[in-house]
Amino acid sequence: RAKRAGGNRVEPFRPAFRAGGTDRLQLETDLRRAIDRKELSMVYQPIMRLADGEVAGFEALMRWDHPKRGSIPPSEFIPIAEASDLIEPLGMFALERATTDLTDWEKQTGDVPIFVSVNLSSAQLLSSELYNDIRAMLTKTQCDPRRLKLELTESVVMENPEQARLVLGKLRDSGISLALDDFGTGYSSLAYLTRFPFDTIKLDKALVCDHSDKRTVLLKSIISMARGLEMKVVAEGIETEEEGQELARMGCDYGQSYLYGAPIGAESVLRLLRERFPLTKRA
Ligand code: C2E
Ligand code: MG
Ligand code: MG
Ligand code: MG
Repeated sequence: RAKRAGGNRVEPFRPAFRAGGTDRLQLETDLRRAIDRKELSMVYQPIMRLADGEVAGFEALMRWDHPKRGSIPPSEFIPIAEASDLIEPLGMFALERATTDLTDWEKQTGDVPIFVSVNLSSAQLLSSELYNDIRAMLTKTQCDPRRLKLELTESVVMENPEQARLVLGKLRDSGISLALDDFGTGYSSLAYLTRFPFDTIKLDKALVCDHSDKRTVLLKSIISMARGLEMKVVAEGIETEEEGQELARMGCDYGQSYLYGAPIGAESVLRLLRERFPLTKRA
């Protein structure tokens, strides 16, 4: 690849070059084909109700199994999709898979009451078609809008607050639930909590796992403020049972972390639901 000055020798490929621009272009090209080639999939991480340890829902997370490079994390390929025109098809893929799987789990378990949470990127929110696309998708996959949650970070909302307010308002009015993701990183302006129709806050793991002495004060205030605003709170990245109990005492509704379960495939979700909610346990 790289030619050394004064010589003609081409350096052999080195993995260290991976992060470079050429590589990013190659990944973008590969990502463009990934949907059709069935290299993308969704996994689901349980979200536990802290009060009784029951599964309340799942967050849908995208995975890319690259034929040559193996698994590429979303922190690497989502930014590439966002910087190109790929985030919209990828986003619709995530929504279609997640709502199809949810409908399937409901049918197979006799309507276990769970939700599925799907991440949304700013480019998706800026599309004037988003609302209609989501409504059409829910009809197609027979998914009850009240069972769908969309997760957005404040940077997504910040990009175009007026458009965001309009679209989020329509989504919320149609019964879809909205979560402010990664709260406690970035600015976390309180204005986002009141100016946009969020009904859930997800506390970022950086805040949850912070070991400074101000942690408790901070968590307590955020949680009580959220409750005052009638919002649900999910704590991400809880590391110990004690932390979970402490958060539950503070009034935090849900926990999502490796402690309660790693992301798993749709088949495993079905097994987990059958185990957790046997038909005999329900009226
Ligand atoms: P996120 O939405 O904040 O998702 C939570 C991330 O934390 C996931 O990483 C999850 O696997 C990880 N996690 C869960 N429990 C723990 C824990 O106990 N400890 C630690 N250290 N991490 C934990 P993942 O799957 O790698 O996704 C990373 C990010 O990529 C997501 O952050 C989200 O911003 C983005 N992403 C993933 N899937 C999608 C998608 O379908 N669409 C969009 N737009 N973004 C996605
Ligand atoms: Mg999320
Ligand atoms: Mg998050
Ligand atoms: Mg995150």
